[in-house]
Amino acid sequence: MLDYKNVEELHKDLVNKKISVTELVKETLNSIKLHESKLNAYISINEEQSLNMAAKIDKKGVNPDNLWEGIPIAVKDNLNTKGILTTAASKILSNFKPIYDATVVQKLKEAGAIIIGKTNLDEFAMGSSSETSYYGAVHNPWDLERVPGGSSAGSAATVASRDVLVSLGSDTGGSIRQPAAFNGVVGVKPTYGRVSRWGLIAFGSSFDQIGSIATNVQDAASLLTLISGMDVKDATSSSKKVPDFRQKLTGNIEGLRIGVPKEFFGDGVDPKICSLIKDSLKVFKEQGALIEEVSLPNSIYGIQAYYVLAPAEASSNLQRFDGIRYGYRADNINNLEDLYVKTRTEGFGDEVKRRIMLGTYALSASSYEAFFIKAAKVRTLIINDYKELFKKYDIIVGPTTPSVAFKFGDKKDETSMYMNDMLTVTANIAGLPAMSVPAGLVDGLPVGLHIIGKPFDEVTLLNAGYTFEKINNFNLKPNID
Ligand code: GLN
Repeated sequence: MLDYKNVEELHKDLVNKKISVTELVKETLNSIKLHESKLNAYISINEEQSLNMAAKIDKKGVNPDNLWEGIPIAVKDNLNTKGILTTAASKILSNFKPIYDATVVQKLKEAGAIIIGKTNLDEFAMGSSSETSYYGAVHNPWDLERVPGGSSAGSAATVASRDVLVSLGSDTGGSIRQPAAFNGVVGVKPTYGRVSRWGLIAFGSSFDQIGSIATNVQDAASLLTLISGMDVKDATSSSKKVPDFRQKLTGNIEGLRIGVPKEFFGDGVDPKICSLIKDSLKVFKEQGALIEEVSLPNSIYGIQAYYVLAPAEASSNLQRFDGIRYGYRADNINNLEDLYVKTRTEGFGDEVKRRIMLGTYALSASSYEAFFIKAAKVRTLIINDYKELFKKYDIIVGPTTPSVAFKFGDKKDETSMYMNDMLTVTANIAGLPAMSVPAGLVDGLPVGLHIIGKPFDEVTLLNAGYTFEKINNFNLKPNID
């Protein structure tokens, strides 16, 4: 259990040799192992390499100008790590060791950060509870009988448990923000194109973004600065200049214009969450922000559009897992078709198969117009709704999730599981930056405040989160030790 307020504090202690990197890594590994029997947050722990790297850094000393040197970071297991098992929580990649690093992983390594382990997730990041992982679900450190959210479940649970201060997740429809909310930590999904997706195992390529999870906004902002930027290996990566997000946090939101969509407080959202979030808005008001109720009329179709478009992209992306190029291959094969069919039947779990079938159907000649094109039109309507609002408002605010963390097995049918994403998917649909910041507790469980920003205006987004965090002062931690 790390007792540091933030990465900057830990970095100072490393520079001043109050703690060595080796001691820090050992402490981190002990904390992870202590919690693993309860949480199952990791698919693999990178013990040997982490200790070797720590020893190397200790020999020369931590560079005072490099915040990340020697800092342990947990990485979601759908991000390629050279020579280290990368499974995407699927059986089909159970023996896959990539031959290259994802760009974000390369950036962490270049900065001297230590990749302490690969975190558990829903299979191929498809899910909202981690229950679809081939490696078993992650447990919520606030209540072990409850889900931690998904799909970046392990990345959120290990930060909430203070094994590490920061981790990386990916967010296609809410997978950073929703588990951040369920675990009482901060999660940031940047604007589409801000962070390179090279080496992220693709799910819905026009939605996927990698982002940061942390105990506080400052660290989430610092980590986002590190991983952002143009990458020639990702054709959708943006060449927009990357500000130092951490340096831009001022704690001043005087005059900030905040829109609060009434649809975010509608049917299906727990009234206790609605009132907690409405109450939280006072914090912004007291700091001089202007708050108005607004409408995002097409956001109510977000889930329907997302669950056509994302599976369509997934069905195409997952074609590459054929038993030949990567990972698992079925035995007792008679011919090529047999190889494909058996490998995919045995290698994919039910939810992944469901998405492949849904997506293939939506893209088929007979239903393409009725489903895929229709959903793409809804996408445009949602994008336009946001464009209109952002003419008048700087950020959009609401709850991150319609409920607090639910119990394992509670969402019996997939549609009730899908509804969990109703408040997060529209940011992915429109490619907008968004974050979840802890707001308080309902029934003893964490609730997240959701903030959505203008494209490439993470500065305003993060500063709003930072100001909220400072005044709201949520400083509770789960008690699992
Ligand atoms: N829960 C959503 C889904 O299952 C989002 C997942 C994600 O963001 N990776 O598609």
